Amino acid sequence: MPPSPGSAPVPAPAPAPGSRLRICVFCGSRAGSSAAHARAARQVGRAVAERGHTLVYGGAGSGLMGEVAWAASRAGARIEGIMPRFLFGREAPGEAPPQDFTVTDTMHDRKREMLGRSDAFVALPGGYGTLDEVLEVVSLTHLGHMDKPLVLVDVDGAWRQFARLVREVRDRGFADGQERDLFSITDDAPAAVETAEREWARRSRLRGDAA
Ligand code: AMP
Repeated sequence: MPPSPGSAPVPAPAPAPGSRLRICVFCGSRAGSSAAHARAARQVGRAVAERGHTLVYGGAGSGLMGEVAWAASRAGARIEGIMPRFLFGREAPGEAPPQDFTVTDTMHDRKREMLGRSDAFVALPGGYGTLDEVLEVVSLTHLGHMDKPLVLVDVDGAWRQFARLVREVRDRGFADGQERDLFSITDDAPAAVETAEREWARRSRLRGDAA
């Protein structure tokens, strides 16, 4: 979301009945160098479906994004994909599973949609796009403009350096607060969605949302 001065915090969307959430997954549009990445992506996609949630993602058929989406789809999840038109040739939406597909004009529009309509975020390993999305959630959360869980799935230590960097930013006095309020980190890919659910419930309780 554009952090314009004085704008209202991003509201936490009301959960659907039974606490079914929109879980947004950030991950690489490429497959990465290890089969462990794709395995974790499929585990996360399947968990989104099996726990009754909707998958929100970038709409791609390529890389880990495609792996998450196909695993979620095969396990019966509803999927919402969002992609700017100029990426069609690059991220192969035609190879993605059936989904509610939204076309945006710009990358920023896409990110705003993904951040705005989701209840929680799960990040697998990825490239610069994934880093950008994760950092956007972290920075908006730190500013108090967002209050939604972010779970980093630490496949083979993929997020270790990022977590260290966040700690260093705080230790140097450029940020404050607890890491837990910015993100959770786990190497247990199948359990990442449950971690997001628990954190979502904790935040709801802290805000005093109606049950
Ligand atoms: P990557 O991790 O680089 O493979 O990208 C993951 C997803 O993020 C892809 O769908 C990219 O199109 C998208 N992406 C790339 N750069 C950005 C950016 N600056 N802001 C938001 N999304 C991006």
